Amino acid sequence: MSTNPRNVTSFKSNLILQNEILSLIRQAKSVNPMAPVTLLVDSPLQGTLLRRSVIALNSQGTPKAIANLKLMTTSDLVSHIANVANVPTPRVAKIEVLEAAIFYLMSKKENTEKSVESMATASAIATVYRQLQFVSESKLSALLSDERLSTTQQFVLDIVLQTRHMLSADSLSEVCFDLGGKLDGNSERLRTEIGEIHVLTQATPRAISTLLDSYSAVAKVHFYKVDAIENESTISSRNSILISAPDPLSEVSMVVRSVMHDLQNFDADKVAILYPNASQYATQVRSALDEAGIAWHGSGKTIGQSSIIARGLEIILDTLAARNGHESGFTRPRFMKLIENGNLGIKGVSVNLNRVRSWVRSHDLYGDCFNWISVLDFASEADKKTQRESKEDLEKLLKYLQEQFDEFDSCSNWTELGKKIVNFLADLYDMDSLIEEGGTEEKAWNTIKTLMEVELGELDRLPAGGESFVFSRDVTNLLRMVQRRVIQKRLREGNLSTGVMVGDIREAHLLSFDSVYVLGATEGMLPAATKQDALLPASILLLLEETDLAQNSRENTTENISSVLRTLLTDTRQVQISRPRGGMSGGLENEPSRFLAPELNEKKSPGSAQIYVAETYKHSFTLVIRGNLLGPVSQRELQFTRSAFKADKDQVFEASMAAWRTPAFNEYFGNLGQRASTEPVWSPKKSGKLSSSKIDKFIVCEYQFFVLNVLGFYDDERVDELREFIPSRFGTYFHKQMELFVKEQQEAGTLPGFGHPWPADTSEKFKQNYFFKNLDMFILTGRSGWYQSFMAHVEDVADALDFFFANEVSKTRTEPAPLKISGAEVPFGRDQDQGLVKVTDPETGEDFFLVGDIDRVDISSDGLVAGVLDFKTGSLDSFRGKIGITAKGGRSTRRTPGKEIKRETAQDIIYRLAALEINSDATSAQVNFAFIPNGGEPDILHAKFANDEDNFLLGILRRITESGRTGSFVPTVGSNSPHSYCNVCGIIGYPGAQVRGNSGSGEVEVEGEPNE
Ligand code: SF4
Repeated sequence: MSTNPRNVTSFKSNLILQNEILSLIRQAKSVNPMAPVTLLVDSPLQGTLLRRSVIALNSQGTPKAIANLKLMTTSDLVSHIANVANVPTPRVAKIEVLEAAIFYLMSKKENTEKSVESMATASAIATVYRQLQFVSESKLSALLSDERLSTTQQFVLDIVLQTRHMLSADSLSEVCFDLGGKLDGNSERLRTEIGEIHVLTQATPRAISTLLDSYSAVAKVHFYKVDAIENESTISSRNSILISAPDPLSEVSMVVRSVMHDLQNFDADKVAILYPNASQYATQVRSALDEAGIAWHGSGKTIGQSSIIARGLEIILDTLAARNGHESGFTRPRFMKLIENGNLGIKGVSVNLNRVRSWVRSHDLYGDCFNWISVLDFASEADKKTQRESKEDLEKLLKYLQEQFDEFDSCSNWTELGKKIVNFLADLYDMDSLIEEGGTEEKAWNTIKTLMEVELGELDRLPAGGESFVFSRDVTNLLRMVQRRVIQKRLREGNLSTGVMVGDIREAHLLSFDSVYVLGATEGMLPAATKQDALLPASILLLLEETDLAQNSRENTTENISSVLRTLLTDTRQVQISRPRGGMSGGLENEPSRFLAPELNEKKSPGSAQIYVAETYKHSFTLVIRGNLLGPVSQRELQFTRSAFKADKDQVFEASMAAWRTPAFNEYFGNLGQRASTEPVWSPKKSGKLSSSKIDKFIVCEYQFFVLNVLGFYDDERVDELREFIPSRFGTYFHKQMELFVKEQQEAGTLPGFGHPWPADTSEKFKQNYFFKNLDMFILTGRSGWYQSFMAHVEDVADALDFFFANEVSKTRTEPAPLKISGAEVPFGRDQDQGLVKVTDPETGEDFFLVGDIDRVDISSDGLVAGVLDFKTGSLDSFRGKIGITAKGGRSTRRTPGKEIKRETAQDIIYRLAALEINSDATSAQVNFAFIPNGGEPDILHAKFANDEDNFLLGILRRITESGRTGSFVPTVGSNSPHSYCNVCGIIGYPGAQVRGNSGSGEVEVEGEPNE
């Protein structure tokens, strides 16, 4: 250690530094133990930890406090001296004011309204502003014309200078210079309030160093710098070992198991776990320590991850940012998020949120939620009692929220907006049950209230002309600000004095511990690749003579981290470095960190006694490190290692776990036949009734039937947002209107008679009184997607209706007998009252029961002839082949090899059987399909082979039974596959394929990877 005239002490380890500080403190207090000594630090937290270490050194086993040992940051110091010198405390702009001012100046300069990108830039420039706040205006102005600056850097510098003027901010450089001249007259008070100063900041602005130099005439100022050490590894092998782990998860587990052993020898607060990359390690380390029950302190989850109130705020602001004259911004995705965020305890509004959520899903409501209010009665028409209650709850909730959101429209300044947001949140959540003293929600709520009620109001005090309140744009910016200041902010967890320290390597600057764990010693992570700050590179800081700041800038991160580690680890009693060989985010190579001494580098010294290699996670439990077996600690690890682990409740789960431990070709790994040999996986007796659509699924792809109807997977996408118009959803709407129309005509007795056409104005009446009248309901529930495409389809359907009403009688109700409409949306097969529709296999006597609904049923006057009309949204040409009719109108002769005729649906066959059952006197029934709009050419197709002479339906039912018996449900692959409209393999995440094996040769042939 050496000292020069400016009291600069160089040190090579934090322990040496702390001993030096302690000895200087003792000297300073040798006459008066109450004499103040001040540690000048970067942050209060780092200062607190450092002060604790120094006091611990002083204690040497016996508690021994140091009186009047103060902590100050540079801004605390300047304010304190200003206060003593009786000059006004320098005005430093709050970050939101700074960003708002910069944003305004940028938009004026660039004449741009690109709010989102500009706000991110404004926030980056605000960082530059703060870094330069101790640089004098004259220096910055001179630099502005320096040719070495890029255009972007000049732009940034110019904005920084303009912001200073706009906010009339005090130049901290001048303030420091001024204060330097006022120290003399106040030296006595300064000596009793601040005393000797130890400068322990990572980088000190030049203006502060100059002020400190002046202060040295009042009291001693001690500066420190790290000893320059040539050619020595950052992490030496002296007191260290290296653990090589297969992946970060195993690495973290091993660290926590080692810490458990440490706690027998060291106090928890003398142990530190440090990582180079929080996104890779922070969550894993925290969870592993929690699972092991080890107390820790450090930065925890973000407020957004932990707080319901903060997430609620984000949804509110997101809604307000999307709000404009036409849209409320409160769309179904935001509504769902608000409900799923939970804990809504709206005052005076009691609702069952779970039921409301499923009601919205089941009633197909999309788009702007406040539009739903006017159509809820319509949407809930067919609801049962509990569903009606859900609808009422939804209505109450939406009306309440609409009222709240509407009130924001009258806010004309930031103060009003902030207050309104706080009141809304206080009303929306039951704060009494949510907030616990000292808990996360309390911290989040206090942060939000300070930001909204105090800091937001500062924006209203910006100089005139500085910022006008443009609501939508500003809320977008406010949302970004809240995300940075609240949502993404990490909460500190734990008690500083009781737990293991967990944090980023840089947080250990100048601290000392007995045992230190450093994770991630793999190249690319330690050190991480660094690049220079494009807006304020070190070269500009050097031009401004800010050498300390330049040294500490982003492009020198590698050097700085190396220095933090070296001084931390040099005198630490026990150091355990670890590194993952794979599984790292970013796909890093398996290369040991350049910081490691050769003896700790497994590639350079494979046989080194200081290196422990865990081949696998399981293998790591057998390692003995420093005489201790790295045995399991947490419940999860115990379960992993306990050979006789048994799940207590779920037998299916247990069996599945057993299967996964010893994978074999059994029911869990593709051999469904094994399962089916004990009991059929599908049978007409145990598996219930079949609808036409289930049967069709089997026809087009047996595997699809298996996944949906045997395994019971749900294949509809649970999306909260419909971007495109879906014709089939409009088909449902059309069906509903036709049903209403027919039923009302039936009740009024105005249906056309047997074989009679509709009156000439029917099409027009249907369109005006049903089709168009209720279209709003479809649009307001957000089902129309892109409006233009939707309206084009609506017009096609409307045109097709003229044809339909003019021709339906001749095509559906004349031959073989005049028919009259007898019912719309007629159900069949559900119970005895409706008439059970069944097919009996004459060979086995097995009954197959069928179930469904028919759009329209007709009957002749003598009741002997029945008719079925089904509306279709697709195209007639493609459907014709599906019901076995060739393009020329003949019978399809195509057959599946050795099996039944090649059809793709049995719908017409089933409808015919159902019509005969519904009309029990009927001896014949005909089936027709109406195609509307059919690409602008509406038409009606007669299903001429619905009487099923080929016994197609029975053939399919037998095949389903056989599949159920054998467990063989073969995926359809190749050109016949209907993958384009099947989502099943996508949901499972693995494409179905046909595999044929030759047991003799062992050859395997795979056909089709359908979901490419
Ligand atoms: S994606 Fe293809 S193979 Fe998979 S279930 Fe659907 S139709 Fe069958």
